[in-house]
Amino acid sequence: MRAAIEIADKHQTPFGAALAMGDQLFVTAANQTAELNDPTAHAEIMAIRKLGEHLKKTNLSGFTLYTTCEPCPMCMSASIWAKIDALFYGCDIPTISQFLGQIQLRASSLSKNSINPVYVAGNILDEECRQLLANYA
Ligand SMILES: [Zn+2]
Repeated sequence: MRAAIEIADKHQTPFGAALAMGDQLFVTAANQTAELNDPTAHAEIMAIRKLGEHLKKTNLSGFTLYTTCEPCPMCMSASIWAKIDALFYGCDIPTISQFLGQIQLRASSLSKNSINPVYVAGNILDEECRQLLANYA
C-alpha cells in the first residue's frame, strides 16, 4: 500500500496502485487519464496492463492488488478477469464520493457476483489515502 501511495503522490493524483506477489513488488501505476486522454487509464488498469505485458500473460493469479481508493466497477472487473487473488484498498467509495463523483457499486459486491471472486479488504492506511484525495481531487 505504501508503494501505491507513493506513486499516486509522485503523479499528483489520489489514485495509485501496486501489484505484488507475497512481499515482492512487481509494478506500480498512477491514474493517467488526463495525461493519456484515456478515460480507462485508471491506476489499477494501468498496473494490470503493465504486469500482463511484463509477464506476457493475462492470468495474474497469485498476485495481490493494492490501491489507494476502492476500485470502480471497471477496475474491479479487470481484477476479476485477471484472476487476481486479493485486493486491498485505502479509501472506500463513500469516502471518495465526498471528493469526486463515483459509480456507487462496491468492489465486494462485484466480487461476490463474479465468476472468479477476489478477496477484498478495505480501509488500509485510509487516512493517508484520504490525504491524497484532499490534496489532489
Ligand atoms: Zn477504476
